[in-house]
Amino acid sequence: MDKYEKVKKIGEGSFGKAILVKSKDHGHQYVIKEIGISGMSSKERQESRKEVAVLANMSHPNIVQYKESFEEDGCLYIVMDYCEGGDLFKKINSQKGVLFSEAQILDWFVQICLALKHVHDRKILHRDIKSQNIFLTKDGTVQLGDFGIARVLNRYAHCCLNSPAVFH
Ligand code: ADP
Ligand code: MG
Repeated sequence: MDKYEKVKKIGEGSFGKAILVKSKDHGHQYVIKEIGISGMSSKERQESRKEVAVLANMSHPNIVQYKESFEEDGCLYIVMDYCEGGDLFKKINSQKGVLFSEAQILDWFVQICLALKHVHDRKILHRDIKSQNIFLTKDGTVQLGDFGIARVLNRYAHCCLNSPAVFH
């Protein structure tokens, strides 16, 4: 964490925290997911490291860009680009019932389809597609994030492709 300066906490989940940070080198802002792994079983620890491996393998304009990861003091840190527009869930709620235009929704929908194609082409299932895991950048692009429960497609997943649990 020496390279980064904490700005504020922007999210908290079962995994730990999402923290907005600033690079001490060049001042760029990033989000770091801090996952406490010291109290985990070795299987759970492997699962957490998998989120890193999955995200690090992706490179697409509609997927949150991974930067680096490291382990320190019993925590796993995942550094990624900051999506300044926050998540789509918050955006929808801030509308207070005012509807988005059809064109806007279609634009976001297509971007998420492109992200999912990139994911599926790599034989990965995201498994948690929802507005809280879709992020908005400052230029209005939407990006898919939070690969926390993603699975690499295997034989089992193939045979259950229509089950709701692996639908995404
Ligand atoms: P989890 O759902 O496991 O708690 P997420 O990766 O979805 O973890 O992060 C939790 C919340 O933190 C998100 O819903 C969002 O509000 C915020 N957040 C996470 N990553 C980013 C990011 N790259 N840019 C902006 N906000 C983020
Ligand atoms: Mg999430």
